[in-house]
Amino acid sequence: MSQNGISWINDEIAALKSAGLYNVIRTIDSPMDAWVTIDGRRVLNFCANNYLGLANHPRVREAAKQGIDQYGVGPGAVRTIAGTMSLHVRLEERLAAFKHAEACITLQSGFTANLATIPALVGKGDIIFSDELNHASIIDGCRLSRAETVRYRHNDVDDLRRVIAETTNYNRRLIISDGVFSMDGDIAPLDKLCEVAEEHGIVLMVDDAHGEGVLGRGGRGIVDHFGLHGRVDVEVGTLSKAFGVVGGLVAGKKAIIDWLRQRGRPFLFSSAMTVPDVAACLAAVDLLESSTELVDRLWQNAKIFREGMDQMGFNTGHSQTPIVPVMLGEAPLAQQFSRRLFEEGVFAMAIGYPTVPQGKARIRVMNSAAHSADDIEQALDTFGRVGRELGVI
Ligand SMILES: *Cc1c(COP(=O)(O)O)cnc(C)c1O
Repeated sequence: MSQNGISWINDEIAALKSAGLYNVIRTIDSPMDAWVTIDGRRVLNFCANNYLGLANHPRVREAAKQGIDQYGVGPGAVRTIAGTMSLHVRLEERLAAFKHAEACITLQSGFTANLATIPALVGKGDIIFSDELNHASIIDGCRLSRAETVRYRHNDVDDLRRVIAETTNYNRRLIISDGVFSMDGDIAPLDKLCEVAEEHGIVLMVDDAHGEGVLGRGGRGIVDHFGLHGRVDVEVGTLSKAFGVVGGLVAGKKAIIDWLRQRGRPFLFSSAMTVPDVAACLAAVDLLESSTELVDRLWQNAKIFREGMDQMGFNTGHSQTPIVPVMLGEAPLAQQFSRRLFEEGVFAMAIGYPTVPQGKARIRVMNSAAHSADDIEQALDTFGRVGRELGVI
């Protein structure tokens, strides 16, 4: 009976609930911004990847509306069949120019950008060297490719050299790393990864989802941050974080981007970004190119928040970016801390095992240019109060 066929799912869900691992998803009744409305209450938001506040920026909203007036809402079919809108072509040209890359292609999300790119570059008989903390979409892209995947220790270039030396039986090779690691906010040593890749003639790919719009001059990303233009073969990025919209991008060598139009399966078999998404992203590029104000404010806010937390005696880990982990140790404490913050009007997520190692539970604070100086001050005040109450500081 079909009812019995899925009864195991209820058991699994019950197990998740009793282990405290069941995802409860909050409903937001407002735009995604510095403040959001949850259950009828306004709370200060430190959960979103909306680094620059573009998700609800007036110019970005207006551009999406104008895009609809000119092009409608949907792309109609996959681009190889129904053709591609000039809007999409323009965004790809603008992104390539912004990032000083030879070419760029957009996809539906950062996740599908990885699923498109990795299997197009390697397959059976090939080998991938992957940082052990790489994002789930990289892991899935590696699996889909059917290449052998060898993990190296997190950000450990010597370990990468060791695994490269130990593997001999392969055709093509690919090194993949996240640019910014989302749980700790640390940055991949892309300059050193680049040296190793060049020494061994290995293709290098970086997934800069948390660096896009954040790192580099005016948010041009990790390749710009390290000044490695033209040396990193392929850079995956997202339009769903700092860009404030939804979409994915792949930028890099022209040959690779051309190849993705021929062999990237999410490009060939899934429709393109919607019109308002693309129009909004074009406005986001305009904003980033016209001024570094938002990126500067993001870093300034993050600095004030981190220093304030450190002064109060919190452990903020070793982040190098606006992601600030507030290290608390055990998961129940982190969950209690997050619950108390929420009661006090601050929305900040507790993250525990298995997303981070046992004993490394934390509140992950996502800073944003959308926050005002008062917002940061209020957040620090609330963290301090809850921290003292729970005996953390
Ligand atoms: C968030 C993230 C993605 C997924 O991006 P979406 O556009 O939300 O699909 C991919 N890779 C990394 C490293 C990420 O942090």
